[in-house]
Amino acid sequence: MTEWFTETLHPWLAQRLTMDHVLFRTKTEHQDLIIFENSKFGRVLTLDGVVQTTEGDEFVYHEMLTHVPLTAHGSAKRVLVIGGGDGGMAREALKHSGVVRLAMVEIDRSVVDMSREHLPTLSAGAFDDPRFELVIADGARYVAETDDRFDVIIVDSTDPIGPGEVLFTAAFYADCKRCLAEGGILVTQNGVPFLQGGEVANSWHRLRESFTDVWFYVAAVPTYQGGHMAFGWATDDATKRQLDITSIEGRFSPLGIDTRYYTPAVHQAAFALPKFILNLLS
Ligand code: SAM
Repeated sequence: MTEWFTETLHPWLAQRLTMDHVLFRTKTEHQDLIIFENSKFGRVLTLDGVVQTTEGDEFVYHEMLTHVPLTAHGSAKRVLVIGGGDGGMAREALKHSGVVRLAMVEIDRSVVDMSREHLPTLSAGAFDDPRFELVIADGARYVAETDDRFDVIIVDSTDPIGPGEVLFTAAFYADCKRCLAEGGILVTQNGVPFLQGGEVANSWHRLRESFTDVWFYVAAVPTYQGGHMAFGWATDDATKRQLDITSIEGRFSPLGIDTRYYTPAVHQAAFALPKFILNLLS
């Protein structure tokens, strides 16, 4: 008898994935956590009924939320990841040899522990990198209180439900701004505009309360159903978003980082938004 995982993110649309083998399932202090095997996508992590990441397509999301801001910044040394418990974001960011410190502030230790055990290809050793620091805390509280400064902040959160909700507020974005060094860049997981257009519209207004250059860039992640996923972009240095292809190539290519989605041309093109998304930025 085939067991199905049915996503509960939307009341009017649900994707299903066969759970060929359930590796772990629990209700943590913060959320419902399931890790299972699927014949097409490999191992899948879900939280509170929503697909978080899969071995099959995680590369799109993790490459685009790291190589775009880190290449655009040009000299990022200190990176802050809010959320990111599966370790994929840390894995990709730490491929940048100029990064000397990566702090990952994750609210749910179980996600880290279970991802390390059941999704080892996601972190791929990042958790043991001497530059990596794990902080188990609410990311909103961390940015409100830390005296540390960062060059790039990556919000790799769940959707704005449950513990993730606070990571989509103007107050959180203002605190992220406080934690950014001169020329710093904030990027965010900002939902699928075709199905969650309100998230882009809200972040557009809330980010602009703290930053002068706010935009979005996109990529299609198969298991974040509904077309493009949007990534929030916020900085006070508008030049960081206006690099030409030669500059992007000149910065990224020497790093020798193997990718499966990101290229300098994709980096540049990702900031060209379809009209229906532009219309959300009224
Ligand atoms: N790629 C996924 C997406 O786009 O939805 C995100 C994956 S990652 C597993 C999301 C992480 O955010 C989870 O591990 C969750 O525990 C963490 N998280 C949610 N709210 C948080 C908060 N307030 N502070 C820190 N981490 C949080």
